Amino acid sequence: MEHVKSRQAFEEARKSIPGGVDSPVRAFRAVGGEPVFIESAKDQFVVDVDGNRYLDFICTWGPAILGHADNEVLTAVKNRMDKGLSFGMPTTIETRLAEKMHEMLPYVEKVRFVSSGTEATMTAIRLARGYTGKEKIIKFNGCYHGHHDSLLVKAGSGGATLGIPDSPGVTPGTTKSTIVCEYNNSDGVRDALEAGNVAAVIVEPVAGNMGVVKPKEGFLQTLRDLTERHEVLLIFDEVMTGFRIHEQGAYGLYGVTPDLATFGKVIGGGMPVGAIGGSGTIMDWLAPIGPVYQAGTLSGNPAAMECGLKTLEIYERDHVLEEIRRVSGHLASGLADICGRQNNVSFSIQGAMFTVFFTGTTPSNFPEVADCDMERFRRFFQFMLNDGILLPPSQYEANFLSFKHTKKDIDHYLNALETFLGLE
Ligand SMILES: *Cc1c(COP(=O)(O)O)cnc(C)c1O
Repeated sequence: MEHVKSRQAFEEARKSIPGGVDSPVRAFRAVGGEPVFIESAKDQFVVDVDGNRYLDFICTWGPAILGHADNEVLTAVKNRMDKGLSFGMPTTIETRLAEKMHEMLPYVEKVRFVSSGTEATMTAIRLARGYTGKEKIIKFNGCYHGHHDSLLVKAGSGGATLGIPDSPGVTPGTTKSTIVCEYNNSDGVRDALEAGNVAAVIVEPVAGNMGVVKPKEGFLQTLRDLTERHEVLLIFDEVMTGFRIHEQGAYGLYGVTPDLATFGKVIGGGMPVGAIGGSGTIMDWLAPIGPVYQAGTLSGNPAAMECGLKTLEIYERDHVLEEIRRVSGHLASGLADICGRQNNVSFSIQGAMFTVFFTGTTPSNFPEVADCDMERFRRFFQFMLNDGILLPPSQYEANFLSFKHTKKDIDHYLNALETFLGLE
């Protein structure tokens, strides 16, 4: 496989963009080699600037639940763009998307749209502190909630991959109110809540930023019980899991209702959208009704709203996740078969997200993921790339499935995995 043009593009990019990329994981630092530059994408495939086509398991890190460049979505967005790109004034399409989210997720009574997942969690934290009048935030080791300062502590994928758990430039003053607990261990949370002054517990209900790590039976319900008892808000960060682990996210899958939830990725369908949603009483604490300030010049951008709305409409109409579950069921049984014959490979899968771990037992928290054979993952990644399969370039990342991935694609993946393991 030729990567001449990608190599040249990277060299040029590094001169004017730090590290040549606008988000660190794209630089392939964790897997060696140089990144491929993408020219276009359609359905379950991406094509690089050298003309190589890859079966894509990144799916733009989650948003492409319908597959890339869905024709209906493209037409709707183009039509919307013909009316103007941005007005900085309210539009009816924002209300339509908020209504759609409420219809799909009853506990999301009100929604505020922003332009990224980072903005969504940043706002949720500020809102929780404003609403409760308390200061501390509990997060979990290996959970990523975007790159704003107060949550950039033990933040999984990006930081973990690059070996910077805490970033320079984040002041101790900012993070001193952030308490980090181990995922799947509620004892730490109980102690931290007892100590008091906690505004919120924020959690990825199924973690996706340390690879896919599922909550143990009862973990989320225990968080709900504890937070309720201490009058602390429970925030589900569903930026990645929303509409991927279940049609109704963690609420649908585990029957646990958070006070607030944050969304992104799928609800923008590939354009920049984030959202905070939850009980109307709490949401109304946001400006202009409430005292908690939050704003955004491009928030609720009409083209992005149209892209998200059309994506969710198709998602519902075509029973997209149900179809993906058929394919992911096929993947799950294939992986169970392969991992059953190996003593140092395991996997985790939930709905349209999965990870193959190079460790014998499926990890249940960050230290267990960190125990994986990262050198072997590197070889695996490169082997798959050569076989025309684009994986997220880190062991700490989730793989994503779309509506367009077929059982044949899954067989391609499984055969390549098996060949790789046979060669090792
Ligand atoms: C991707 C992600 C974010 C950050 O979203 P951005 O749009 O990249 O800012 C926050 N939380 C979770 C769980 C994510 O997966």
